[in-house]
Amino acid sequence: MSVLTSSISGDMTGSRGLEATLRFSVLASGSSGNATYLEVEERGLLIDAGLSCRRLRGLLARIGRDLPDIHAVLVTHDHADHTSGVRSLLRERKVPLYAAPGVAEVVKTATLAEPGEPLNLEGGISVAFFRVPHDSPTYGLHLSDGERSIALATDLGEVNPETLDLLRGVDALVLEANHDTDWLWRGPYSADLKRRVASSRGHLSNHQATDVALALASHGLKDLVLAHLSEKNNSPMRATGTVRKALKDAGYGGIRVKAALARHPTPWVEVGQPIEEREYVYKYGGQAGAASRLFEVE
Ligand SMILES: [Zn+2]
Ligand SMILES: [Zn+2]
Repeated sequence: MSVLTSSISGDMTGSRGLEATLRFSVLASGSSGNATYLEVEERGLLIDAGLSCRRLRGLLARIGRDLPDIHAVLVTHDHADHTSGVRSLLRERKVPLYAAPGVAEVVKTATLAEPGEPLNLEGGISVAFFRVPHDSPTYGLHLSDGERSIALATDLGEVNPETLDLLRGVDALVLEANHDTDWLWRGPYSADLKRRVASSRGHLSNHQATDVALALASHGLKDLVLAHLSEKNNSPMRATGTVRKALKDAGYGGIRVKAALARHPTPWVEVGQPIEEREYVYKYGGQAGAASRLFEVE
């Protein structure tokens, strides 16, 4: 039996070291509110603010941060679970807000960011929006400090070849895994809502997320955070189990897969942390004098 040695990516409070940092935590994810905190060179960015300032502050405290750490806000689309807290946050923190066409006009006070045109933000990070199919104008984000990169894509009905091209090569990916397809069809939603969720402008299933993970596995993907999980049609175990098994079967069991939760922040993900090679510790078995056998142990 071989077991991959686990790697702990930073403590929960993300203590600040001397090394250049690019790290993030998905603070909350799903239809009850979304926010991801990303930090580069001690400059914090918030991606989506679909929760109250009070809740946001509480979640940030869990990772050792507070509202003053936020230096810019980026909004992916104008659904309440991504934008309901934007106004109150900007009253507390007068920081730039960026959104792409079709979103910037609705989320007032946003600076318009054209998709595919990178914004260079403080801390030396460049951020580009890219369009994804959903039932309102919606964008994913690709962020890079020149060395390491991360992409975030939630609220999308499918990953088309152009999106997959953009995602290829990222070190870390926050990707929607909204539902287990069987659970969705057998679940409590109305027929209309089921069709909407499963459509190419709805939300990604665990199997769609798995296909993306497999397509990116040989292109340097190290950390995958499954996000926007439905609380009715999925579970963190179901989502991570489905993706992990497929990656392991394909020989990419070293990719770290986590699920983002609705009410608890993920541990910090340090972007670009190498995947630990499988470490086999061999020990000799058998009787003295007999041919030695090798056993793989943890
Ligand atoms: Zn959403
Ligand atoms: Zn949405």
